[in-house]
Amino acid sequence: MLDECQGEFMSDSLLGVDIGGTKVAAGLVDLQGEILFKTRNPMNSRGSAEEGLSAVLMAINDALAFSPDANVVGIGLIAPGPLDPKRGLIINPPNNPCWRNYPLVQEVQKHYDSPVVLDNDANGAALAEAIWGAGRGYSNVFYATLGTGIGTGMVLDGKIFHGRTGAAAEGGHMTIDYRSRYVCGCGKPGCIEVLASGRAVARRAKEKAVTAPQAAALLLELADGKIDNITAELVGKAWKAGDPLATEILEETADMLAAWIGNIVDMIEPEVMVFGGGLTDLMKDWFAHIERAFPKWAINQRASEIPIVHAKYGHDAGVAGGAALCLSLPKAVSMSM
Ligand SMILES: [Zn+2]
Repeated sequence: MLDECQGEFMSDSLLGVDIGGTKVAAGLVDLQGEILFKTRNPMNSRGSAEEGLSAVLMAINDALAFSPDANVVGIGLIAPGPLDPKRGLIINPPNNPCWRNYPLVQEVQKHYDSPVVLDNDANGAALAEAIWGAGRGYSNVFYATLGTGIGTGMVLDGKIFHGRTGAAAEGGHMTIDYRSRYVCGCGKPGCIEVLASGRAVARRAKEKAVTAPQAAALLLELADGKIDNITAELVGKAWKAGDPLATEILEETADMLAAWIGNIVDMIEPEVMVFGGGLTDLMKDWFAHIERAFPKWAINQRASEIPIVHAKYGHDAGVAGGAALCLSLPKAVSMSM
């Protein structure tokens, strides 16, 4: 009996699909969060809604073909927001203009027996980290992806916190300076995204290269003398070489993140904060600095007990996130039975 159960358990797989503006990745993931197989197909996000859908179906079919005997418990779709996870609807994402108020879950569901679920990338990644990754063992997890932009997700009592319409946890668009001269793409001044994302690090370095070219000598050298070539990655390289300007820029970034994290701790008091994304690969060397700094920005007297840890899933966060969604919706699973 036990052997039979274990055999059944072993063949169960989750299918995670990560839909971006230019590609769709799909992967089979086991119940322990290990990615067994991953495929990547091109995505035509500027064509018709049907073309967008067929790119998604093709990626799913490729992943299913890898293991035809697998019992796929669910198909979890990760797509750029805004979207409505409760209704399975893609609203109007700037990077996927092929879909406007598009019922993606319903359309994908027509082709498969396994239940289909949908959420955005940060929510999915937050759940994958909470179940299998760096937030494992904690029931309240705050997740942030620091990259070109800043996305966040919250897992509270083991579940993604969606808010009223599924639009909660847009922590990247919390302002820490309402009078800031930097206005975010969302329209608000001083969002943490416009101040401390990868793009913001590059912008501050470029500004310095204009106003203080001598101080930016190393950065300019690394950028082949062209200000436009300066990226957050180059700032990281210059910092590792001991450059004072790069150090100043990253320290300021760490301090702004600390102020923001203080707000988050006062609002939700997570047990752990998991950071992922491309800029985190650079900022992880500043985690200790941020951990010292953020308690000063929180009224919470035990803020310093909350660790900041590096996410387990890097580029696979979308596939793992999609897979994790399948576990979070037992209703969807039982509906199909
Ligand atoms: Zn914003």
